[in-house]
This record gives sequence, C-alpha cells and structure tokens, in this order.
Amino acid sequence: MLRVYLDHAATTPVRPEVVEEMLPYFTEKFGNPSSIYRIGWENRSVLDDARDRIAAQLAADSSEIIFTSGGSEADNLAIKGYALANQKRGKHIITTSVEHHAVLDTAKYMEKLGFEVTFLPVDEYGLVSPKQLAEAIRPDTILVSIMYANNEVGTIMPIKELAKVAREARVAFHTDAVQAGGSLSLDVQDLGVDMLSLSAHKFYGPKGVGLLYVRKGIRLDPLIHGGGQERRRRAGTENVPGIVGMAKALELANAEREENMRRITALRDKLILGLRDRIPEIKLNGHPTQRLPNNVNISIKYIEGESLLLNLDMKGIAASSGSACTSGSLEPSHVLLAMGVPHEIAHGSLRLTLGRETTEEEIDYVLAELPPIVEKLRAMSPLYQE
Ligand SMILES: *Cc1c(COP(=O)(O)O)cnc(C)c1O
Repeated sequence: MLRVYLDHAATTPVRPEVVEEMLPYFTEKFGNPSSIYRIGWENRSVLDDARDRIAAQLAADSSEIIFTSGGSEADNLAIKGYALANQKRGKHIITTSVEHHAVLDTAKYMEKLGFEVTFLPVDEYGLVSPKQLAEAIRPDTILVSIMYANNEVGTIMPIKELAKVAREARVAFHTDAVQAGGSLSLDVQDLGVDMLSLSAHKFYGPKGVGLLYVRKGIRLDPLIHGGGQERRRRAGTENVPGIVGMAKALELANAEREENMRRITALRDKLILGLRDRIPEIKLNGHPTQRLPNNVNISIKYIEGESLLLNLDMKGIAASSGSACTSGSLEPSHVLLAMGVPHEIAHGSLRLTLGRETTEEEIDYVLAELPPIVEKLRAMSPLYQE
C-alpha cells in the first residue's frame, strides 16, 4: 500500500539539508548567544547571520525580524502587542471572519480587554475586497489583520491592495502569511505590509519556530517579558538550531519556488479535474484560480468528512477535513460557513494539500481510491437514498 501525505497545510517534513544545517547547534555549538565566552558569543554571530539571511528573503532589514515560537505566537504578538502599545490612538481593530484561530481568537480576546473588533464578511470564494476594508475603517481604527492565503480553502487575498487602503488611512496592516510561506512572494516592500507572520514548519523547516516581521517605527508591547533578547520585544534564550533551520528552509523554498509551484499546480489541477470526472455532486471550495498552488478543498454532498478521513487513512492517505485545529470537533469549518456553504455540505468537506515531494503516482492513487470510498459512504447515507 502506498503512503500518501496530502496534508502539507498542517505541517511539512523537515528537509534533510535543513536538518544537517541545524545539527551542530544541538551538540558542540550549544552555547547561549548572550554569554561572554567564545562558545556563547560565537552563536551570537550565527544568530545575526540567520537573521540577515531571513531578512534578505523578505526584502526587510535585519532589525525588523522578531523570532518567535511559531505562527501562533507571531499572530498574537502582532495583534496584542500592537493594540496594547497603541491603544491611546484608538481601540478599533479590523480582521476577517476566515482567519486562522491564532488571529480570530486573539481578536476575540481583545474584545474582552475593551477593544472593538470588526470581523469582515467574505464572498463565496473567501475574499474580502479593498472597498469593504475602506468602508470599515473608522477614525479610531488602529490595526487591520488580514491573512495572505487561507489555510483551509487556499484563497489568496489581494494583500497589496488591502495594505494600500490601510496605509492611506494611516492604519497599521498585519498579514498572517503562514500559508503563503514557500508558495507566494514574501517581499514586504512590494506587499506594503507593516507586519507579517511566518512559521518554519509550513515550509519544510522545524516546528516551534517562526517570526514576525515588524516595519521600522512600529511600536509593540512584548508578550513575553524577561531578558533583553530580540531588541527587548521577545524575551527568552533564542532557539538557535530552529532559527538556523528556518533560515535554510526559507532560502531553499524561495530559490525553488517558481519551479515547484509550476509542478504542484499541474498536479493539483489534475487532482481537481480527476475528482470532478469521477465523483458526481462535488464542489470546489475557494477561488477557482486565485488559490494556493497546492490546495484542493472539495465538498462532497451526502457524506461526513470524518468518515471519509478514516477510510482514506485505511488506504494510507493522510488528508484533512479542514484545519487540524477544527477537525476533531464536530463543528463545521468557520471558513466554509463564512463563505456561505450550508452546514450539511460543510460537514462533507475534504482538504488535500500537496507538497514538494508529491508525485503523479500518488495523485493517480488518490484518484483510484477516493471515488469508491465516496460511493460506499453514499450508499450508506440516508440523505443520498432520497
Ligand atoms: C499553521 C498556521 C498558523 C499557526 O502556526 P504555528 O506555527 O503552528 O503556530 C497560523 N496561521 C495560519 C494561516 C496557519 O496555517
């Protein structure tokens, strides 16, 4: 039986080149970058070097990179850190109803702290428009947070245009670019964003390390107090192996981005067309073209996503019914519901996300195995009988 991993939106394997670059920093080069002896301060320059390499990939300055424990912390720091440091100017925040929970739940927490949050609705493809954003901005708006690409349905937001609206209104703009990392351009000058979150494990780097890009002049309160690391914006001894690994992973991802994306897009489209040919009454969720090259999200009428996943697992296929965080609960995805997908159809949704190691053979295998599973489950469904 083939083992087919199609959940790259949840996490990716660490590339061997990345592991190799990280290994010395666990053992012989273990020093604390803040120490005054050689084994320590040598790691200070390793850290500076990794920061420079990462900044270069984002067209940012090294002083604008704050290392974090991952995407969730970066999102929390952007929203809580910015809102708390700038609340004298206003207490209104704008985000969308399709964000990852790291943004959504942080925004809801800010409401408890006395901030007011507007959750912009999306259209049937999961998009918000620049016009919608412009109309939502008020004199007391201080921050906008809109994701670059959606982790469930893959829809790519018009970030450049949205950031421009915020800039013209003199409102700070943050984007959760965690799903875009490795797939889309992360040039912060071109995008025009003030803050941007990334997580290494979504682009073949290690888990537990990420970053927040923060444009010069933006003030943030730290979430974690203690030492003076990260220019006093994030205390704690730095994750040196993780940061070195993230730098390597980002360089590799960007260098191979265009070639990889071309190959993966072709496989994605083969999968979408093949499923449409073989399974009646399915619907592609998300935007037909303005979507991540590796994302397939379909609703399959009359069946439950959970039973589909279990049956796929028995065939060696790893997939998701939405985001890893929402699966496991019986609530349908907040993203699909926000896009106007009815409850009963949102329940039968399946997310397949391809990666750099995905082969045509694997896609053929899924196209052979998935349709009979759907047929079997539909045959047992009382809804389908009617
Ligand atoms: C995975 C993900 C996160 C969370 O990143 P972690 O590093 O796992 O904390 C945040 N936002 C999006 C869009 C994601 O896909």
